[in-house]
Amino acid sequence: MASDIIAGDVLAPVQEVDTPGFDTRALQALDSAHYLHPFTDHGALRDRGARVMVRGDGVYLWDSEGRKVIDGMSGLWCVNVGYGRASMTQAVARQMDTLPFYNSFFNTTNVPAVMLAARLVDLAPPGFRHVFFTGSGSEANDTIVRMVWRYWQLMGQPQRQAIVSRHNAYHGSTIAGASLGGMAGMHAQGALPIPGIHHIEQPNFAEHGRGMSEAEFGLRAAGWLEEKILELGPENVAAFIGEPVQGAGGVIIPPPTYWPEIQRICDKYGVLLVSDEVICGFGRLGTWFGSQLMGARPDLIAFAKGVTSGYVPLGGVLVGARVAHVLVEKGGDFNHGFTYSGHPVACAAALENLRIMVDEKLVERVALETGPHLKTAFGSLASHPLVGHAESMGMAAGLNLVRRKGATVHDCEAFPRELAVGMVCRAHMFDNGVIMRAVGDRMIVAPPLVMTTAQIDEMVERIRYCLDLTLDDVQSRGWME
Ligand SMILES: *Cc1c(COP(=O)(O)O)cnc(C)c1O
Repeated sequence: MASDIIAGDVLAPVQEVDTPGFDTRALQALDSAHYLHPFTDHGALRDRGARVMVRGDGVYLWDSEGRKVIDGMSGLWCVNVGYGRASMTQAVARQMDTLPFYNSFFNTTNVPAVMLAARLVDLAPPGFRHVFFTGSGSEANDTIVRMVWRYWQLMGQPQRQAIVSRHNAYHGSTIAGASLGGMAGMHAQGALPIPGIHHIEQPNFAEHGRGMSEAEFGLRAAGWLEEKILELGPENVAAFIGEPVQGAGGVIIPPPTYWPEIQRICDKYGVLLVSDEVICGFGRLGTWFGSQLMGARPDLIAFAKGVTSGYVPLGGVLVGARVAHVLVEKGGDFNHGFTYSGHPVACAAALENLRIMVDEKLVERVALETGPHLKTAFGSLASHPLVGHAESMGMAAGLNLVRRKGATVHDCEAFPRELAVGMVCRAHMFDNGVIMRAVGDRMIVAPPLVMTTAQIDEMVERIRYCLDLTLDDVQSRGWME
């Protein structure tokens, strides 16, 4: 039985290729016997076997078979400075040697947490002077829900409890995170969303913008927030939350008119504006925070992922002046926090990550060089017979696989959902050295911010080749007519 194999045997090299060999079959058997993966159908995983990743360097990964892949997804939207950065290892090792852990409860603090809080405030938009640390993006959003409710309580308006979010948003997987999120599949698995969380339609031009210009549609989509606020009663609405660009929902880029109008509506009704920047923060869109690009002035910002480039888990909330003033100056004890809030090793990793980003001018490079290059290179895929339309912003991009192309995004004919063409396409990518994610029939990338223009070209050419394979595949299955 595979599970009888002890780890030492499994990890012993079985072949010498350009990475040390691993006993892939044994690892896969142990994996499916014992390891419950996130968001995974374990029956299907058992049949196929998990791919075992063993090494990373720059924008490349190697699996246990020695196969090299270019990582179009930065791990999971996080490895922004790329894999194998020795200075990250050193920063983490040094902190583990000095002080691997201490808590920040009971009037105590630690050096990396203090330094990181100050550093983040330097990088944040004007008006942010405070940071609360968590272990993840989900915990950041849970913290925001508690902070928002506490804020309105302290303001003498405890009935302001409604939080408005959007369908197809992703805000994490804890109870509050999944409730804020608009993923129908998550809500359907039991008793979500929790009371007080309401959803409006997403600003997805391809889906909802027929017959309008993009600019008109942006105003219309923001108007759904105002309608919801009036329906709930403005005196009951606490906050609106959104990702500047929806990530897990499929890299949905809102029209430029959307966020300024959302801001105007929040201001009009005194509703707090929350920007979930777990993906869009730390340079993904070519600005330190995505809301800066979108023309929004959030009161609270959730962050995680890119803050440490995923080397060590860390998340948090940047708290703007409006909320901080009430919470810090009048609030007394805020009964909330995590064992790992301000974890010194995670904060040391974040400090080194931010140093790299500044020294290598990664945010500027995304704005001026790699982001525009991705837009052109990825945009060229729109001419492929299987691609209806392709969009990108900074280092995030998505394209729609369609059965028939049309003159506009609204004239394309989609594949029937049950064919799951996106999964077919993803498998070709996976087998041919490029990692791209499928969200339904939308294929997305969010490469490491260190990806060079030459590597972007390499990634896009591999994607094009895999689109050809996918086209042959769906044609031979008789799915194109
Ligand atoms: C990934 C993600 C989260 C959740 O972060 P975890 O660290 O997985 O808990 C929240 N919001 C957005 C926008 C995300 O992309």
